[in-house]
Amino acid sequence: MTDAVPTPEDLDTLSLQLGRPVRDVVEIPARCVCGSPLVAATAPRLSSGIPFPTTFYLTHPAATQAASRLEADGVMAEMSQRLVDDPDLAAAHREAHRNYLSERERIRIAAGIEPVWEIEGVSAGGYPERVKCLHVLVGHALAVGPGITPLGDETLERIAADFSPQRCVCAESWDSGAEVPAEDLSRHVRLLRRREQEQNEPQTQAQTRAQTDEEERR
Ligand SMILES: [Zn+2]
Repeated sequence: MTDAVPTPEDLDTLSLQLGRPVRDVVEIPARCVCGSPLVAATAPRLSSGIPFPTTFYLTHPAATQAASRLEADGVMAEMSQRLVDDPDLAAAHREAHRNYLSERERIRIAAGIEPVWEIEGVSAGGYPERVKCLHVLVGHALAVGPGITPLGDETLERIAADFSPQRCVCAESWDSGAEVPAEDLSRHVRLLRRREQEQNEPQTQAQTRAQTDEEERR
């Protein structure tokens, strides 16, 4: 799959879709019919050192918004209950969990990084026993194709009126002419940066506290 390797244009599109710069993207495992990325396959350890279990990160705004609407409708609780009631579905969901882990291993090797012991055996989205995040299931279903994650396939069907990989809604989903986000100002990233900085040049506790206070006020 030669088109799996992200181009600079792909990375810009991902950043526009998410509204923040993307990092550590190893592959584009799913694309819209127009070629735009739908999912970013991310290294299981970010270059900041943080373990990252969500290997298949759903990025297309139409898909993420549709998944969020289903989540708000209580679909995760409904699916989790079906996993309790239906042993066949539960077995298939556990098999999907194993697929997620083996796909992550493939991505890890492609990224050339060491095994990530912190998330060994841990996948994402509530796998293997529950459903906690429909975005993870949709990202997985799009990345590996139908027949691997039954609840991911089902979620895709249930959002089909709003989003389908076969029907391009990219033009109205994000502003492709906007400036590509270069600075990630989310609290999460500020915290990571501060930790990196602390590792490189240890500062006093008072300095760290002053910095934290300043960020809390923003
Ligand atoms: Zn498209």
